[in-house]
Amino acid sequence: MANWIEFAAIKRAVPLAAVLERYRINGLRRSGQNQLRGRCPLHGGEGRETFHVNTAAQVFHCFSCGAGGSVLDLVAAIEGCGVRAAAEKLSEWRSLLGDLAPPQKPTVTKKTRSVPPLRFRLRGVDVRHPYLASRGIRAATASEFGIGFYAGPGLMSQRLVIPIEDEAGRLVGYGGRSLDGSEPRYRFPAGFGKSRVLFNLHRAAATGQATVIVVEGFFDCLKVYQAGFGSVVALMGSALYEPQRRLLVQRFRQIVLMLDGDAPGRRAAAVVAARLSADCSVRIVPLAANSQPDQLSEQALQEVLERKGGQPETQ
Ligand SMILES: [Zn+2]
Repeated sequence: MANWIEFAAIKRAVPLAAVLERYRINGLRRSGQNQLRGRCPLHGGEGRETFHVNTAAQVFHCFSCGAGGSVLDLVAAIEGCGVRAAAEKLSEWRSLLGDLAPPQKPTVTKKTRSVPPLRFRLRGVDVRHPYLASRGIRAATASEFGIGFYAGPGLMSQRLVIPIEDEAGRLVGYGGRSLDGSEPRYRFPAGFGKSRVLFNLHRAAATGQATVIVVEGFFDCLKVYQAGFGSVVALMGSALYEPQRRLLVQRFRQIVLMLDGDAPGRRAAAVVAARLSADCSVRIVPLAANSQPDQLSEQALQEVLERKGGQPETQ
């Protein structure tokens, strides 16, 4: 019961427009007295008008992906967290948002709660499994990343396991890829907070470079790494969650976005670039239709990534 009251109070206290501003979602335009419309910041999407906000009723709705609800639902979707965690976040902001000050200052210093380290490590992972070679992953890369086939018991049984480390290099989870076509294609441990982790961030940060390449998948990341670009991270999907955005902008000044060359990848790149461009310079590397970084040869990757000239997409 106490939670009900708290939720309701938060919904009243924090204007949806302030949340949009806080997350730098500023491509929406006014339409009517209490309406904002624009491209959906959650799913990207082709439509320039699918995302509607009613600032008086304090609700939003996307007519394309179906997302919608209150400020709490919006924060939960952006942060990749539950409604309860969103409420906690909003109540932390409430005092800061009291005077609706611009979002630049205080909350930025607050650290993203990190994912707890795993208490175990899988044993007997075969880093020389032939699947790796079939995807163009060299034995040395597989060893370095600890990627291989796991035949033992449990959730990851009979899957290719990919250790996922946090920004400090601590193991926080595994991605388990099925090799026999069984669903889901990727499996993660229960409670694994994908939204708060970037695959390979600790190695990318250790290069000391100001530039990082951002890709979608594990294999994209591995192939770019093998091509000689150590400063590369994977989103583990095409969405950039707010905690992931913070991890990036805290460490890097330039971001090279190389998402998949299909329509969803291109739309996602536009959305992700917009979210990053307030803090970093962003360059989008467009790939040929329906190609993904992991399908490109090392030479092709080097060509697209080192291509000089051309302005950054956004500044
Ligand atoms: Zn949407």
